Amino acid sequence: MRNPLTPCKACREQVAETARSCPHCGAPGPGQEWPWSFGETLIGSFFALSLAYVVFWALFSALRRSLGIP
Ligand SMILES: [Zn+2]
Repeated sequence: MRNPLTPCKACREQVAETARSCPHCGAPGPGQEWPWSFGETLIGSFFALSLAYVVFWALFSALRRSLGIP
């Protein structure tokens, strides 16, 4: 079974709905509203927040240690 075709949001050529990038103009996620799905955005945000939390926690504990606060 073939993938359903949809016009690319950038160049209007027919591309597969599931295509990651347009084979004609290279636009990301040509058949989708957004280049990334909601799940990927959620997971990406979660990882970014976790990383930011770890970095801030490390900086804060280093700062506390340098100030002599237990
Ligand atoms: Zn295109």
